Amino acid sequence: MVDWVNNMQEIICAGCSEITRNHDIVNYSSEDGGSQLLCSRCFNAEVAKLSGLESFDNIRIQPIGITDCAGETHQFHFTQRLLGNMVALDAVELREESPDGYRFQMIGDPEGDSFALLGRLVEKIRRTLSVKHITDDDRYGLQIADKMVRGRIEGDYSGAEHAPVVVVDGREISWDDFGRLLMTFEGWQFKLEIRDISEDL
Ligand SMILES: [Zn+2]
Repeated sequence: MVDWVNNMQEIICAGCSEITRNHDIVNYSSEDGGSQLLCSRCFNAEVAKLSGLESFDNIRIQPIGITDCAGETHQFHFTQRLLGNMVALDAVELREESPDGYRFQMIGDPEGDSFALLGRLVEKIRRTLSVKHITDDDRYGLQIADKMVRGRIEGDYSGAEHAPVVVVDGREISWDDFGRLLMTFEGWQFKLEIRDISEDL
């Protein structure tokens, strides 16, 4: 539903005419078959009306900076989307220089407290940012810090050949580089488990 490809791009919401970052825009298809690009708050208002959830807590959440275990601050932007019987709260790390940073999602109850959901999401972000799975130093370059790596699967569509990319510790690592990191463990076994973005890792 949300185009993650260029989160920094700005779009005018067809509902409130506010200039909105791409990550906060939803392509909304109405019952008459038309579609509009709406900011998440206008989208939520439409869904709330249709599903009789007028009490929905349609809050605007300001960006929050959260510091990782290396002392670096990551700027998170939040989007709350009402999806009928559930609410999805997304946190996206937005940076000018690299489109793929940390990303988190938490699913909640549309009649629940939005601030409590935000509190749980921030807790999850802090927990994740308190660990680094990859080390990077002048002598050895990129290395797997321990024997466990958590991350996210993304794609690189910039070249003629589409290639997988992984995002670990909020940094993009090419498939080739990730393969080289694994070579440290040549002959060892591994276990690959894939989970939805909203699940705990
Ligand atoms: Zn709007």
